Amino acid sequence: MPHLGNETIKAELGRASWKLLHTILARYPEKPTAEEREALSSYIYLFSRVYPCGECASHFQKLLKKFPPQTSSRVAASQWGCHIHNQVNARLGKKIFDCNTIAEKYQCGCEDDVGAAETRLNEGV
Ligand code: FAD
Repeated sequence: MPHLGNETIKAELGRASWKLLHTILARYPEKPTAEEREALSSYIYLFSRVYPCGECASHFQKLLKKFPPQTSSRVAASQWGCHIHNQVNARLGKKIFDCNTIAEKYQCGCEDDVGAAETRLNEGV
């Protein structure tokens, strides 16, 4: 396998991480319980602490202070995710993404699984 440069690896990690984060937000409950809200908020803060690119993690933590995770509904959470990704895009000189298209873009192929994720969240698994 050819050796990939650090920038290439960092970019791949970024793409995979954004994909997972946006997909989680697109599947977050429309009407979350207090526990579900707490679970999402904790996940995002922990993600910002364990993200393996140090420069990215420290910048993301600063962004979270300015724009705390919005967990009141699926729309609020996914729009927040789009907005915060756009903040990173702007910093890196990338194109700003149109947040109106977020719901169609982040399908997970798990539409038959409605309720399962919510049950797992409720059970604290
Ligand atoms: P990406 O930004 O990875 O986006 C992937 C795809 O998501 C795009 O092709 C587009 O289809 C879609 N997309 C774009 N914008 C949005 C949006 N606003 N909402 C929803 N979908 C969107 N790299 C650095 O060099 N320095 C950093 O400080 C840095 N911080 C990061 C912090 C975090 C939390 C993460 C997850 C990544 C960070 N990265 C950072 C990586 C960087 O954001 C990109 O992932 C990487 O540069 C690859 O960029 P890309 O152009 O392929 O698209």
